[in-house]
Amino acid sequence: VQYRAPRGTRDILPAEQSYWRHVEATARELAHLFGYAQIDTPIFEQRALFDRSVGQGTDIVEKETYTFQDRGGEELTLRPEGTAPICRAYLEHGMSSLPQPVRLYYFCPNFRYERPQAGRYRHFNQCGVEAIGDSNPAVDAEVIELSWRLVEELGLSGQQLLVNSIGDGECRPRYLERLRSHYTHHLGKVCTDCHHRFERNVLRMLDCKRSDFGCQELIAEAPRSADHLCTACAGHWSKLLYYLDALDLPYTVEPRLVRGLDYYTRTAFEIQPPGKGAQSTVLGGGRYDGLIQELGGQPTPGIGFGAGMERLVLNVKRRGEAAPENDQTQVVVIGLGEVAYREAHRLASHLRREGIQAVLAPAGRSMRGQMRHATALKARYSLILGEEEVQKETVTVKNMARSEQMEIPAKSAASVVRAG
Ligand code: ATP
Ligand code: MG
Repeated sequence: VQYRAPRGTRDILPAEQSYWRHVEATARELAHLFGYAQIDTPIFEQRALFDRSVGQGTDIVEKETYTFQDRGGEELTLRPEGTAPICRAYLEHGMSSLPQPVRLYYFCPNFRYERPQAGRYRHFNQCGVEAIGDSNPAVDAEVIELSWRLVEELGLSGQQLLVNSIGDGECRPRYLERLRSHYTHHLGKVCTDCHHRFERNVLRMLDCKRSDFGCQELIAEAPRSADHLCTACAGHWSKLLYYLDALDLPYTVEPRLVRGLDYYTRTAFEIQPPGKGAQSTVLGGGRYDGLIQELGGQPTPGIGFGAGMERLVLNVKRRGEAAPENDQTQVVVIGLGEVAYREAHRLASHLRREGIQAVLAPAGRSMRGQMRHATALKARYSLILGEEEVQKETVTVKNMARSEQMEIPAKSAASVVRAG
């Protein structure tokens, strides 16, 4: 093979599509049930949008973005995540004048230059929601419930719902100080990435997945953000748990769960399989009360989550149950000889207008050859036209499962097929 899909990308072949449609339909239906409306944003944005919002000290901006100059010299970045573009759209379209919160959902391809592994790609897809313009913890609970319902509806078992609060601009600086002093005399024990995180983004040290250094022990002993909240954040946090309890959500408080970006505030949550590996988290979300202001808008709170479609699909497949598969073909139309084949073309065209799926058998083949094609496509019916049928304006209908056939007026082909 001369050409291959680029590293970290993959083709989603027809055989896999039914899983994707199933996950998509489930997510869309749920979003709709919760009153969320779909939004699509461009696949690329001005580079500065992500540099500014996702933040300079993050993996995404430091080493994962696909950034390029277009022919007009403009710096553009392929979307690495869905939230910043939606907040940009919120501002650009004056959505603050709508009833708040504005509830939005999306499906989008994302691009990150990562080290490809199972469940980790450079081009991957997310579905997610954002609720923008309301800081009440009731909205956090709603978004978390929606994320949990998605996993539930897809029948993924054994998943864990983890929640935490990482405070805000008021209390986080003090907490980060505590975290820094916790690590400061132990830097000899952590991995090189964590060294870097210590300098740039100490919160991210809690997110380290390596067990070949002392990172995990230090994480276990680290001070907890939820123990260092200011009064307002503590109030938000306890109210959130109060609502989560009301909704009977099976959450676990995970003190090590963090979001590394500065604009994230308060609520952070993830859904993971137990015994998590680095690429098994199916979705992650959190509150980003600082983001819209960072983008130049009035201070506007928001919360959302992004789910990895590849990981959802993988889990649905693992469940073993085949997704509702439909690789049958309703009708294959067969025409024997030049004239009859032309008539077969017309008949297929007519059937499609009648809403019946019709595929034309390949031209120039014998009856047996065309019939073999019908079998290969798992046709429910084949409709056969020979010279005789053309002359009599009839067609021979073969029920493939029962191996029965009968000649009917060509005009009634659609109704015969439809009647089953
Ligand atoms: P991770 O810790 O796995 O790198 P993340 O914190 O970078 O995740 P988010 O930006 O929060 O992930 O994205 C939300 C979800 O999108 C993840 O939980 C995961 O399911 C999915 N996801 C993120 N990066 C990738 C990727 N490179 N390939 C496939 N799915 C991804
Ligand atoms: Mg990542």
